[in-house]
Amino acid sequence: MNDLMFNKNKNIIKQIAAERIEILFNEAQKMHYKNSELSKKYIKNMKMISSHYKVKIPKDIKKNICRKCNNILIPGYNSSIRIASSKGYIIKKCLSCGNELHIFYKNKLKKIK
Ligand SMILES: [Zn+2]
Repeated sequence: MNDLMFNKNKNIIKQIAAERIEILFNEAQKMHYKNSELSKKYIKNMKMISSHYKVKIPKDIKKNICRKCNNILIPGYNSSIRIASSKGYIIKKCLSCGNELHIFYKNKLKKIK
């Protein structure tokens, strides 16, 4: 196998891995209300695929996952949201393990202006 072929295959594998990540997140979201343990397993698998194939988890997905317990964070259901306006970030708190996720927004606003 020459280098070009290898690179092509590598790209395809990464593409498939990225698709898998999205599928697993969607399934985890659907499953969350029915079986939260299974949902967490999906998220765990998703993280494994991400690290194994060196594919980044999209930011939109990352923002909605608890890093500590792999819970999907649904505001008003299993997470609370606070705004730390002086510091410029949103605090998402997972209600099952208490872990806090900070999402910065101040820099983004500056860019829009
Ligand atoms: Zn948690």
